[in-house]
Amino acid sequence: MADKAATSSSSSPPEIADETQDWMLGSGSGWVEARTSCDHLNSLSPDLLHLPTPDTPCSRCQNPVENWLCLCCKEVLCSRFVNRHMLMHHQQTGHCLALSYSDLSVWCFCCEAYLDAQIILQLRPIHQAAYILKFGESPPLPQL
Ligand SMILES: [Zn+2]
Ligand SMILES: [Zn+2]
Ligand SMILES: [Zn+2]
Repeated sequence: MADKAATSSSSSPPEIADETQDWMLGSGSGWVEARTSCDHLNSLSPDLLHLPTPDTPCSRCQNPVENWLCLCCKEVLCSRFVNRHMLMHHQQTGHCLALSYSDLSVWCFCCEAYLDAQIILQLRPIHQAAYILKFGESPPLPQL
């Protein structure tokens, strides 16, 4: 008699070839890789040690959370998922570097790419300052 509940094959793991290294070669599996260089870093604000706090509302619509900080003029503006004020700011001013207060990622509108704030030296202190503002402690050291 056929027993439907009996799954004869027990939990044998799928065979994995011993080539665990190929993620290092960037085989592109959906993860958006952050750039480690950007030609627009000279537009960074000269004073990025004093940042607005992560709960600063959008300066135009007062949206309270998950805003972006313009790294060129330190204005806080809302995301493309709210009223797109950061995007409009970029279009109006040409400022292209922004830090997300929701996950502390840095986006370059001109490169249309995320930037690795822990690799790029000019961004590292900004990322650290924002991290401390958001979490109240220093970020973990980057794994090298
Ligand atoms: Zn750029
Ligand atoms: Zn807004
Ligand atoms: Zn700006």
